[in-house]
Amino acid sequence: ILPKVVVVGRPNVGKSTLFNRFLRERKAITDPTPGVTRDPIEASCIIGNRELLLIDTGGFKLERDDEFDELVSKKAVQMIGEGDLILFLMDVMDVTPEDEAFIELLRPYEEKVILVANKVDTVEKENEVWNLYSYGFSTVLGISAEHNRNIYDLEDAITSRL
Ligand code: GDP
Ligand code: MG
Repeated sequence: ILPKVVVVGRPNVGKSTLFNRFLRERKAITDPTPGVTRDPIEASCIIGNRELLLIDTGGFKLERDDEFDELVSKKAVQMIGEGDLILFLMDVMDVTPEDEAFIELLRPYEEKVILVANKVDTVEKENEVWNLYSYGFSTVLGISAEHNRNIYDLEDAITSRL
């Protein structure tokens, strides 16, 4: 059974961009045919030398009658519990109350969370990453999913934690 790596975070932080970046690398090897570009919710992929199941919780439909905040579907909460590793994405330049709601939700699982500060597009923005250590997660990494910065560091962090 493959280890589960669950990608969480409020809308627009870059979950799908990161998900597709990890997937594209695999598809480049296994599937040269250009095909459907729809975002999958779950996909197996190889990160470093490990095969794992990557899950984009942003792909789950919200259940409006749910007792939880509408931000997070019941299915997403279930996946957080079942995940071997949680990649919690934030936008390094834009922390909102929705992020803080996620932080509270993730608190019981903090030993399996990597805080991924996305949209660190330039060296200057790396200084902003330090601010996110205040949330208490032991691993904090600044990346740019769109511009492919520090993705290898993130891959190392993932494989070393699995
Ligand atoms: P999701 O809602 O969390 O899945 O976020 P998306 O992956 O759909 O990205 C939301 C927006 O952020 C899109 O316009 C992306 O192009 C943009 N984005 C994603 N990653 C980066 C990044 O590293 N830097 C910048 N500047 N924009 C990014
Ligand atoms: Mg998305």
